[in-house]
Amino acid sequence: MSKKVIVTGAGLSGLSAAAQLAIRGFEVEVYEKNDIPGGRARHFKSDGFTFDMGPTWYWFPEIFENFFRKFGYSTIDFYKLDRLNPAYRIFYGVNDCIDVPAEDKELFELFETIEKGSSKKLKKFLKSAYNNYQFALKEIIYKPGYGVGNYLSWFSITRALKHNFFSSYSRYIKSLFKENRLQRILEFPITSLGGSPQKAPCFYNLMNYVDLKLGTWYPQGGIYKIVEAILKLLDGLQVSVHLNSPVENYDIIDNKVTGIYTRGKNFHADYFVASADYYHAEQLLAKECRNYSDKYWDKKKLSPSALIYFLGVNKKLDNLQHHNLFYDASFDDHLKDLYDHLKWPEAPVFYVSCCSKTDKKAAPAGMENLVIIIPVTPGLEDTGKIKEHYYDLVTNRLEHITQQNIRNSIVYKKSYAQSDFITDYNAFQGNAYGLANTLKQSGFLKPKIRNRHLTNMFYTGQLTLPGPGMPSALVSGEIAASEIDKLHRKSMKIT
Ligand SMILES: Cc1cc2nc3c(=O)[nH]c(=O)nc-3n(C[C@H](O)[C@H](O)[C@H](O)COP(=O)(O)OP(=O)(O)OC[C@H]3O[C@@H](n4cnc5c(N)ncnc54)[C@H](O)[C@@H]3O)c2cc1C
Repeated sequence: MSKKVIVTGAGLSGLSAAAQLAIRGFEVEVYEKNDIPGGRARHFKSDGFTFDMGPTWYWFPEIFENFFRKFGYSTIDFYKLDRLNPAYRIFYGVNDCIDVPAEDKELFELFETIEKGSSKKLKKFLKSAYNNYQFALKEIIYKPGYGVGNYLSWFSITRALKHNFFSSYSRYIKSLFKENRLQRILEFPITSLGGSPQKAPCFYNLMNYVDLKLGTWYPQGGIYKIVEAILKLLDGLQVSVHLNSPVENYDIIDNKVTGIYTRGKNFHADYFVASADYYHAEQLLAKECRNYSDKYWDKKKLSPSALIYFLGVNKKLDNLQHHNLFYDASFDDHLKDLYDHLKWPEAPVFYVSCCSKTDKKAAPAGMENLVIIIPVTPGLEDTGKIKEHYYDLVTNRLEHITQQNIRNSIVYKKSYAQSDFITDYNAFQGNAYGLANTLKQSGFLKPKIRNRHLTNMFYTGQLTLPGPGMPSALVSGEIAASEIDKLHRKSMKIT
């Protein structure tokens, strides 16, 4: 009996699903609309600069390691990882910044200098964050999330009640640490997940363990090294990735998908995995075959989209680390604009990656590679005028806060925003990071990994389980592959 799978989309989740299926003995083909694989984790090269287009933070090293181990490899077989120290810099104003250290001793000293007695609280806080991290790895992240029953072991119920998992993360942090600077350090990893700290459950403090204990890493050569590594795996597993091949439609007979159409051609398989944005993937199906209606999606809270500037600078810059957060504006006001007023931010906080500080290949000698990211509301119109307004605003602030001239030295400039996410990835409302991580959109309440009308159709990627981020995308692909494998074995009566 044949067991062929077609995967739509060659982002990290689709590539992960393809590799995990191939190693389980399935024949797999991937169809990708763009001319380069990697999805949001793509890169591009121009004028001697190499820009990672999406992710810049390499967190959860254990999940990457686990992924490659399944194929008999380690990350070191594909790329060299460096732990960044300091992990990142937070700017609060001119000559006013904190470097978040990689070493425990320095971290606790830093907290103590800012707020007396806080290092002791941090130690206790990180212990609970560690427990939540372990719990998430064991009981949540790798689960297919079909229903609440998936998570209801006796252990999980008692833990949830004992540790007050579901109260507001922000309130929890504020009850422990009074200093605004410390609150910013601890809230940042939650926002990186695409959510407001006020709305996120305090269980997400596991992200503080990931940030402050497991550390911020960087694969030499750039984030795209991860994509290249999986492509090498796929090559060894005889999986073909067809580029410039947008899936336009699915063929359906009797509650089963039988094939896809791309560029007028029809290809058949036994199982199908859609790793393109969930909403878009469902638009390729007849209405009655979709898991969710437009009304369902309209009610969903999305995490932010991103207004991005890729900049090449023809000199070395001072006062910047590899990762830099600019909290010299009101974070709370920015969050309100993002999630409540649903408008362009008046005075945004923003992030600057300067990966050429640690990666010589990212920019020509003596130059810098800058990526500026402003979290913005999805679904807004991003005109050229708006992009120029924010370009002036953030580059002026960057110059002022780091006390140097930058704008006159910019030799390469490209902007990227909501409409580009739609054009390039068919992203629902131009989202960058999927759904916001609110309690109502967590775990089994996320869009389901399996289509309930079509017996052989599955979804993977950042809009389903476990959520946004590269590690989640790898895990999501694994969950989809494992569910297909289980279904196939059941249908073949293989134990
Ligand atoms: C600006 C930005 C910064 C980020 N920063 C980080 C970070 O620092 N660390 C981190 O871990 N994560 C980060 N993320 C999140 C991370 O990049 C994503 O969660 C992850 O890469 C999503 O992978 P995916 O496979 O779910 O989706 P995608 O990468 O979007 O893959 C889906 C693929 O499907 C393709 N596709 C769409 N429609 C079709 C079709 N009809 N036919 C064929 N193919 C189709 C798309 O072209 C795409 O290649 C960031 C994301 C962005 C955008």
